[in-house]
Amino acid sequence: MEKKVIGKGIRLNKGESALDAMKKRVPHWIHDTKKDEHYINGVVYLPGCTCSECGFHSSREKDVCPHCGKSMHSLKGIY
Ligand SMILES: [Zn+2]
Repeated sequence: MEKKVIGKGIRLNKGESALDAMKKRVPHWIHDTKKDEHYINGVVYLPGCTCSECGFHSSREKDVCPHCGKSMHSLKGIY
């Protein structure tokens, strides 16, 4: 079985990308998506998003989650 190791201590499970692994470790907004076959990925990202920590739903991204107070990391640019 092949295992990739990136940097120190970050192990990737099978089928998990480096981004997936990082997403699990930092609080971030999970954007709502809508299926749309006209888009390359088949989904459209909507402005609404959910806190990865507490599940709070916000109508747009905020620097800090209003519910759990965690500083949110923007994962923009590495999508
Ligand atoms: Zn939260």
